[in-house]
Amino acid sequence: MVEKPDWDAPLAEAYDRALGYLTALPDRPVGSTATRADLLAALGGPLPEGPRDAREVVADLAVAAEPGLVNTPSGRFFGFVVGGAHPAALAADWLAATWDQNACLAALSPAASAVEEVAGEWLVRLFGLPAQTSVGFVTGGQMANFTALAAARHEVLRRAGWDVEADGLAGAPRLRVLAGRHRHSTIDRALRFLGLGRNAIIPIDTDDQGRMLPGALAEALAGGDGPAIVCAQAGGVNTGAFDPLEDVCAVAHEAGAWVHVDGAFGLWAAVTPRLRHLTAGFEQADSWATDAHKWLNVPYDSGLVFCAHPEAHRAAMGVRAGYLIHGADGERDAIDYTPDFSRRARGFAVYAALRSLGRGGVADLVERCCTLAGRFAERLAAHDGVEVLNDVSLNQVLVRFLSADGDHDGHTRAVVERVQRDGTCWMSGTTWEGRAAMRISVSNWTTDQDDVDRSVEAILRCAG
Ligand SMILES: *Cc1c(COP(=O)(O)O)cnc(C)c1O
Repeated sequence: MVEKPDWDAPLAEAYDRALGYLTALPDRPVGSTATRADLLAALGGPLPEGPRDAREVVADLAVAAEPGLVNTPSGRFFGFVVGGAHPAALAADWLAATWDQNACLAALSPAASAVEEVAGEWLVRLFGLPAQTSVGFVTGGQMANFTALAAARHEVLRRAGWDVEADGLAGAPRLRVLAGRHRHSTIDRALRFLGLGRNAIIPIDTDDQGRMLPGALAEALAGGDGPAIVCAQAGGVNTGAFDPLEDVCAVAHEAGAWVHVDGAFGLWAAVTPRLRHLTAGFEQADSWATDAHKWLNVPYDSGLVFCAHPEAHRAAMGVRAGYLIHGADGERDAIDYTPDFSRRARGFAVYAALRSLGRGGVADLVERCCTLAGRFAERLAAHDGVEVLNDVSLNQVLVRFLSADGDHDGHTRAVVERVQRDGTCWMSGTTWEGRAAMRISVSNWTTDQDDVDRSVEAILRCAG
């Protein structure tokens, strides 16, 4: 006999643990405080032979895992480009798990399908993309880039008289992919997955901020022929710089190429009048990738792909099978827009974030992060021996720490390590144009001036 489920005890435990975690967050060290050995000792042991009480399992898991968490939802986490979790989005994500919807077909979840339809339309309006733009809710920027580039591959080869979905790439016209030298590594990885290979890329020279030079792009396009895809970037992971999208789109379209924009976080600049100029012309592109788990502060994982050519999008992703029930009357089947088959109902959390923040709230969030990035840069650069390497036009700051002995790279890396151990805040390092740097990304909805000031103090202490 199967026992009657007890939902109350494990869910109450999870709720208490979650609330305890979130309220203590501002006072926790931001980095992890456990080693691999600590975690394996706490979590490991033999696979249990028999059942165990669900509440106890949840409680034990929380106690064992918490020391090994990097507290990325903290307002003083500035590593990579991560973002926290907005309350409405987090709570909606709990419901998505509770409802346990398989959001692949409208027939399997009319609600998940409708929520994606509504949130998708809101996003298209929010970004100011062409009205017919199709949307896919994927796991992140990587899969958004992959999905968009699959649509691009379909369309440029179709125009060249080749059906890549039917015949694959063997014998197909050679496809060129042109992308800036400072493109994100997920572009190369998507091309590997797509059978194009990273050597399909023709790297285009960039300026000192990592922005693609449109003249170099025009030259490269003129230097070859055949189907072409141009991968532009809105917001580079190091400097936060934008390719000049107006010029890139003009030059690329003149040559008949598809333009894809990787805007994992930078695309959100388009939602604020103060920053929209950075994205000027981006709406002329053919596809776009962005993340909801970064700047929209939706819990992981949540990415978004947009395509100005819905038929190409569906041709690349869609699937039909006798046992599936495909949506009628304009019902949206997510399976036609994402590489997944069965999938989590990611739209609920995105919907909740947008509904909770509204257009104004998203714009405020993005502007606030950029203002605080400016404060970081100003305060740090005011100190002797601290250099800001980039024009801080968005939310990214690259900082270098100079050493009396001339080993600026070594000193900079040591400062990053000390800051991570110190626990006040957390940021990672990078190499920009051959020079070691600390990378600061302000992308969390809770970060305020006090967080920045406390972090600057800690950084200077670690550099001192
Ligand atoms: C983060 C990022 C990606 C990858 O996105 P994921 O959500 O991590 O898959 C791609 N491009 C850029 C510019 C990014 O910042």
